[in-house]
Amino acid sequence: MIDAHCHIFPPELITNRSTYAEREIWFGELYADPRHHLASAEELVASMDAAQIEASVAIGFAFNDPGLCALCNDYVLDAAARFPERLLPFAVVQPASGEVALREAERCLEHGAFGIGELQPDGQGYSLEEQALLDPLMALLKSREKPVMFHVNEQLGHAYPGKGANGVVAGYALCSRYPENKIILSHWGGGLLFYELMPEVRRTLQNVYYDTAASTLLYDERIFSAAMSWMPNKILWGSDYPLLRQKRFRDYVLNLPLTDDQQQALCGGNVFALLGLSEATP
Ligand SMILES: [Zn+2]
Repeated sequence: MIDAHCHIFPPELITNRSTYAEREIWFGELYADPRHHLASAEELVASMDAAQIEASVAIGFAFNDPGLCALCNDYVLDAAARFPERLLPFAVVQPASGEVALREAERCLEHGAFGIGELQPDGQGYSLEEQALLDPLMALLKSREKPVMFHVNEQLGHAYPGKGANGVVAGYALCSRYPENKIILSHWGGGLLFYELMPEVRRTLQNVYYDTAASTLLYDERIFSAAMSWMPNKILWGSDYPLLRQKRFRDYVLNLPLTDDQQQALCGGNVFALLGLSEATP
């Protein structure tokens, strides 16, 4: 069982969250309220133990300030070294910082990051339709054959902190422009996955994956069996920990009316293949 979407934070950010919440609008919107937990790597691993999850993709937070992205990356990479069988590090960058983002992405990939993300277009001040801004990063990731994860969300329904303007249209524009990049769209791609029932869209989105982060706050459970029925190899079970509790979400997903093969693909097999993991790594 692999959780494809978890957030952890370095002690500096946990201790001084109110300072950073004032400096960074998006971080503030999500985390100024102290009831919204910021988890450490140790807490994540304890949660995984309790939920019998073997490995988790560990993500910091995509800040506006590239320095804070680097702070998160140092922490996530160090945590992955401390829990080598358990945490699969992703690195965050600020694409608007140009060369700085490229160097940071390269540094992190050299130090073992499995991919880049979860990038936050709304929080970081760009749109997924801004080609010039994203081209260099996407070219780098294509050449390294590493995935990138973007936050997108549904453009309908209830409002909540962190709900941005990048949804199916922007997500589709992004994926059409970089058809050879491996792209993970979080939160079911804001609903883009439903358009994969259109043959030409499905062809364009061949290398696109969707995670289930925060699903229980957004969709009813039938989205799982529906999606797995037509794209069993492209859905990655991810919680958005600590937003969703891993144990509870694990129990929920294991009780869905899916076949054993679908469960296995959803809960680990798909992300295992996407990240090029082998039994040893883990
Ligand atoms: Zn997200």
